[in-house]
Amino acid sequence: MILGGGVGGLVSANKISKILNGKAEITVIDKNPYHEFMASYPWVALGYKEPDDIRRPLSLLSKKNVNFINDEIVEIQPSKNKVITKNSEYEYDFCIVSLGAEVKEDEIPNFSEEAHHSWSLEGSLRLREAIKNFKGGNIVIGIAGAYYRCPPAPYEIAGQVDFFLRIRGVRNKSEITVFHITPGPMSNMGPAISSVISEILSNKGIKFVGNFEPVRIDKENKKVISKDGRELNYDLLIMTPPHKPNSVVAKSELSSPKGLPIVDPSTFRSKNFPNVFIIGDVVNPAINLPPAGVVAHFQAEFVSTQIAAEIKGTYVGDSFSPVAMCIMDFGDDALFPMCEFSKMYLDLSGPPSCGVLARGKEVKLIKMLFEFMWFANYLSK
Ligand SMILES: Cc1cc2nc3c(=O)[nH]c(=O)nc-3n(C[C@H](O)[C@H](O)[C@H](O)COP(=O)(O)OP(=O)(O)OC[C@H]3O[C@@H](n4cnc5c(N)ncnc54)[C@H](O)[C@@H]3O)c2cc1C
Repeated sequence: MILGGGVGGLVSANKISKILNGKAEITVIDKNPYHEFMASYPWVALGYKEPDDIRRPLSLLSKKNVNFINDEIVEIQPSKNKVITKNSEYEYDFCIVSLGAEVKEDEIPNFSEEAHHSWSLEGSLRLREAIKNFKGGNIVIGIAGAYYRCPPAPYEIAGQVDFFLRIRGVRNKSEITVFHITPGPMSNMGPAISSVISEILSNKGIKFVGNFEPVRIDKENKKVISKDGRELNYDLLIMTPPHKPNSVVAKSELSSPKGLPIVDPSTFRSKNFPNVFIIGDVVNPAINLPPAGVVAHFQAEFVSTQIAAEIKGTYVGDSFSPVAMCIMDFGDDALFPMCEFSKMYLDLSGPPSCGVLARGKEVKLIKMLFEFMWFANYLSK
């Protein structure tokens, strides 16, 4: 039983089906009938892609001998090996939970009226209208809190918005400012990445404001206000919405009273329910890994081979390496950074080791090809 048909769920379903080849009944449950490729949301926001270009029906999983149930999970009962949905209930032998993060716009007053974002498909389409109608002024881009999907995305969006406005001829009538709680752009990942992002932002005339923890959006005066009293005036506000780990997992027996899943960080196996594995954005804040698709992907491959090995009774190898790479599209420039998280994740001895694998316009092509390969591999028509 695989809960969630996002990155972790989709990769797990494909991997287990391939290894066990008919020796297991595999079911994915998701409330969304589609798998959405979230890394392409900014391209939807800028009008380069339409929603149907970046999503596929999860029912296509039947081609991989995987059942898909389109229903909302309301409760997980690991002590009974049971999952309760709005319309039914299901039992399992093994369960992979990859229910992701939840966007909670209402956690910040005035957020939904004032802020735009591309952290959901609906949000991306709303942002598209706002950018299309933008005639010039201050664009402020930032984050609501430290936990949000894809840490590099706000910088990418700033670069893409800059490029888009230049094409439309309104960039010279606009100021773009990016704010973040870190002192420098992605400075928590070390100087190798941070210095290149700083250079790209500066080449584009984008201002960066660091150590800025937003506490309030002043709707009347169109300002974002930080904890230490600084203010940023905006005509267009683009901000990551507040995120929380999935609430069904948070309130289940799989999580601590604080709402974070309790797993063995080296196997992602639930400490109290060993036939349950929890991966992706829902668990990563609890084990010092970033909420990123690439991490969910590697975790999915790793836990799938653990389950397949138990069912087959033989070793099926795939180790987990705590690395993340991401192609950052800045419009007319792109970056391919990579980080290794061993120190930050298991032994808690220091920051990740990061470097930049490639930079240049052509790197963007890899991002475009990746989306194509993703659907061809995991959910082809
Ligand atoms: C703008 C943007 C850009 C990004 N760019 C990148 C990138 O370049 N590289 C990268 O590595 N990552 C990127 N990411 C992050 C990446 O998409 C996520 O980290 C990844 O999708 C997490 O996978 P997951 O399986 O944990 O959760 P998700 O992919 O979010 O899947 C969770 C699934 O669970 C379902 N679900 C949730 N609750 C329920 C319920 N109660 N009942 C039934 N179903 C439920 C949801 O519908 C969803 O399909 C980006 C994200 C965004 C928003």
